[in-house]
Amino acid sequence: MSLIVMKFGGTSVADIKKINNVANLVANESINNKLIVVLSAMAGVTNQMQKYIDEIESKENIENDLLLTSGENITIAILSAILKKKKIKSIPLLGWQIPIITDDYHQKAKILNIDNNRIKQFFSNYDVIVLAGFQGINTKGYITSLGRGGSDTTAVAIASAVSADRCDIYTDVEGVYSADPNIVPQAKKISKLAFEEMLEMSSSGAKVLHTRSVELAMKNNLVLQVLSSIVNKPGTLILDEKKLIEKEIVSGVSYSKNESKITISGIPDKPGISAKIFGLLAAKNINVDMIVQNISQDGITANITFTVQNDEIFAAKKLLQNSLNTIGYQSLKTDKNVSKISVIGMGMMSQSGVAQKMFKTLANNSINILAISTSEIKISVLIDEKYTNIAVQSLHNAYNLEKNNE
Ligand code: ASP
Ligand code: MG
Repeated sequence: MSLIVMKFGGTSVADIKKINNVANLVANESINNKLIVVLSAMAGVTNQMQKYIDEIESKENIENDLLLTSGENITIAILSAILKKKKIKSIPLLGWQIPIITDDYHQKAKILNIDNNRIKQFFSNYDVIVLAGFQGINTKGYITSLGRGGSDTTAVAIASAVSADRCDIYTDVEGVYSADPNIVPQAKKISKLAFEEMLEMSSSGAKVLHTRSVELAMKNNLVLQVLSSIVNKPGTLILDEKKLIEKEIVSGVSYSKNESKITISGIPDKPGISAKIFGLLAAKNINVDMIVQNISQDGITANITFTVQNDEIFAAKKLLQNSLNTIGYQSLKTDKNVSKISVIGMGMMSQSGVAQKMFKTLANNSINILAISTSEIKISVLIDEKYTNIAVQSLHNAYNLEKNNE
């Protein structure tokens, strides 16, 4: 008998009909296996909780996390009740009942420990544990949440803790695609991806998996499968690169409209200024992504451009405005209408000309590049947001991605 973790996202448990469908999938797997089924809240419910928090302008961590995690309580109770009707020995559990111990960072808590012995005890009485995703308990005994989209991380963490034989992440698409099929209809489902590629994709805007869940799976070498809860087909396997027979030069193109650009002009061109600017931002936990610095015409001052996530632009701008005197600059400009386009692939490491092709493709479409950043397996460019679709489409075409993964 194997132990399998199955995770279902919000769209897969959006109503009773869909939860019934999940119950059938679970019933099927439970014939030969012990299961931990991790659920999200019904699609939209966590957003609604966030709206309540915004409406009352609550800054209370304990209450906010209690609200945010409440949607999962509903779905696990419903699924487990349906499973019991099917005579399956199931038990619904909240994070604290395992317990899933986290640190104190409410709304973005990290899992510190999961007690495998308790899970074994539950399995001596039950065949299926239906576990609330996205939540844990801190050492002070309060409920915490793991960050939006965090039930993927719950699934991977629990699968690692129990050394599960499989961790299947069910969703409303058939797997990970070479690009967003809403933008590129010819996009192909990728059959196998390295952890590193998936990590770059999630952090570059592909919304299939919570970035932290991929990091955790990579650390524990846990093979993940992303698959559809509606269509019965193999999905995308995410695994160690050594298990990839063929490393694609480019596996996918992703985009993120969640970027904002800040340009500070007329900064004194002397050592220590960048350290000062980015030090200020780091101290406030504001994450900076792409950075470009250039010397201005007069040779005395410089300009610096960088990007932050949309929800941090306000805080970043305020911080820099307040530091006008300590930094000493002439002007500060921000722009939310930019988007980051990334091409990702393991094979890029040993291939030249990949970046050149990207730049040429964008140039052929008269798309101006505002900033560039690269890693061994990724090239990202910042462009005007209105060119997002055309950039993704033309790059998908340029790298022949519709021919891959068939
Ligand atoms: N329900 C939570 C959210 O919407 C967690 C998840 O779906 O993964 O963010
Ligand atoms: Mg999700």
